[in-house]
Amino acid sequence: MSFSLDVKDELLKSHPAEEHCRLAELSALVRFMAGRGNVSEDEIVISSDNKSALRKCFTMLGKTFNIETDVFEDESHNLRTQVSLNAANCDIKNVYKRLRIGNPMDLLKRDCCKRSYLRGAFLATGYIEDPRKSYHFEILTDEEEYAKLLTYLLSQFNIIAKRSLRKKYFVIYIKESEAVSDVLSVMGAHKSMMGLANTRIEKNVRNNTNRRLNCDMANVGRSVSAAAKQIEDILYIRDKVGLDALPESLKEMALVRVEYPEESFADLGSRLNPSVGKSGVNHRLRKISEFADDLRGEKEKK
Ligand SMILES: [Zn+2]
Repeated sequence: MSFSLDVKDELLKSHPAEEHCRLAELSALVRFMAGRGNVSEDEIVISSDNKSALRKCFTMLGKTFNIETDVFEDESHNLRTQVSLNAANCDIKNVYKRLRIGNPMDLLKRDCCKRSYLRGAFLATGYIEDPRKSYHFEILTDEEEYAKLLTYLLSQFNIIAKRSLRKKYFVIYIKESEAVSDVLSVMGAHKSMMGLANTRIEKNVRNNTNRRLNCDMANVGRSVSAAAKQIEDILYIRDKVGLDALPESLKEMALVRVEYPEESFADLGSRLNPSVGKSGVNHRLRKISEFADDLRGEKEKK
């Protein structure tokens, strides 16, 4: 499976617990899958080549609006599956109104809902390139207002997206590795974010190794190999018991360390919430290493 489908697969499995988030995600799913010409107060025609995403959309519609699930029974083998919502199968006016199809801003006051909306839009028309090839994240829309909306929502999480035109579509895209990682985190694709972090580490380690061959920088070498050891410990914990086994503060530390393999303790500390000083970072990383050593010890005993 492609990296893009892996990310979508991960996001399809997360179902927002709160109704406000559910409405926000659903609003994006419906609007971005339907497209401008297919939404009115009388009928919304949703189509997608991703049946799983379409199914999630209809499961959520079913839960929120009590729509009969047999609306989604198209088993045709076309690449695109198309489903119509209209007065025959639902209270279409209510769906249109509650999902704020024309103007979703009212649904997007909370941060959790902004995240949910971005997740829905990405599931509907998004794409992310395999990070081993290049860093590229995008969402397509056929209406400029929605391109502006997505740019605005991303900016609320300090992510700067660029915009371009592709045929009749507006493309919102990100090409910077850190921002691509941030957007995965914002949408709740934490596993994929870790995958991306691993790729970034591999690339960095390779670059650092080359750099070290070229010039003798003893200090850089030392901090790089210390970081490599810390990351090795973190990945070991992740593979053995999962990072959730760590106390919350250590888990946050681990994610930041893996995400920024090249940064100093002071910089890493400032990325934590709340931020901590150099010695705090040192202390936490040592705890993580001890945790990994304990795990290794347990393994040896067996
Ligand atoms: Zn919410």
